[in-house]
Amino acid sequence: MIPALLLALALALIQPPDSPAINYGAGKAAFILDAGHGGADGGAVASDGTAESALNLSICLKLDAILGLFGYSQILTRESEELDYPDSAGTIREKKIYDQKKRVELINSVENGILVSVHLNKYPSSQPHGAQALYNRTELGKRLAESMQALFIETLIDGNRRAAAPVPDDIYLMKSVKCPAVLVECGFLSNDGELALLKTDSYRTKLAAIIAAACVKFSGSMAEGGGAEAGMCAETRRGML
Ligand SMILES: [Zn+2]
Repeated sequence: MIPALLLALALALIQPPDSPAINYGAGKAAFILDAGHGGADGGAVASDGTAESALNLSICLKLDAILGLFGYSQILTRESEELDYPDSAGTIREKKIYDQKKRVELINSVENGILVSVHLNKYPSSQPHGAQALYNRTELGKRLAESMQALFIETLIDGNRRAAAPVPDDIYLMKSVKCPAVLVECGFLSNDGELALLKTDSYRTKLAAIIAAACVKFSGSMAEGGGAEAGMCAETRRGML
């Protein structure tokens, strides 16, 4: 359940476009929500044992629910903490490789997809905090990430000075997908204050509302013709990342 107050926040943040469809090139775009890690791969783990995978999934399911309120239907790369693996994937590494390849296949099979991959950060020092949107090398990915970052800074008011930035080149999923993609690092498990917030349902709903607001605003700008200006179709068809 989404608490009424936070739903109101989502509604206040979101300016729904006339049509929920992103219209670029020949088809309509679809948001693909990827809850980072899962199954045998818990992702980063906080000092108190909190793993990022379940929190990523919680944020993604909330994001899916909020976008659904506005008439969007998403594709989720996973909807559970449990993942199925073939017998040939014995080790955690093999399971992770199998899972990542499967996700890339799914994402690349979606026509006019826009990927939002949700993760949590961890750093050796406890100082860093704040959400950050990273993008793959597409103009539309950059645009969505910049808009999302601006909303994080405006809405969370937590002294976050992070800027949207290109995603590092060594992230397999992000470099293998052909669509515009944003990887959202929703906060730092290594910062005690932020960890405490991330463990609350209300803060995760707030994060989901902000990400949803950025997606809806982005979709609205595309419906108004921004996609053509960004040259997304040509770029995507060439498979440039
Ligand atoms: Zn992660």
